[in-house]
Amino acid sequence: MEKRTPLRTCIGCRKKAPKPSMFRLACMAGGIRVDIRQRLEGRGVYLCRNRACVERGLKAKPLAYALRIPASRQKMVAYEVLEGLKREVKKLIGEEMDIPKKEI
Ligand SMILES: [Zn+2]
Repeated sequence: MEKRTPLRTCIGCRKKAPKPSMFRLACMAGGIRVDIRQRLEGRGVYLCRNRACVERGLKAKPLAYALRIPASRQKMVAYEVLEGLKREVKKLIGEEMDIPKKEI
């Protein structure tokens, strides 16, 4: 039993991975945010740190389902929003090689 590193399921590939190795997206009152330090409030989803999972996971329906976004707030997962989030996460993945581990 592993106690120190909780596992989370990636919404892209559905595989479990250690939480610190993943990206968290948080559903806040103002919209979905990339939660870099995994400390934001609100319901969250997790993604592996790779572009394929970002592309696969950031789709309106599965994301709305995972974040329990009601039909009345579907614009939180509008196409432009998702494209923006994808860009943001991919930029972070791209920069990650330069960031020392402790900063993540
Ligand atoms: Zn994944």
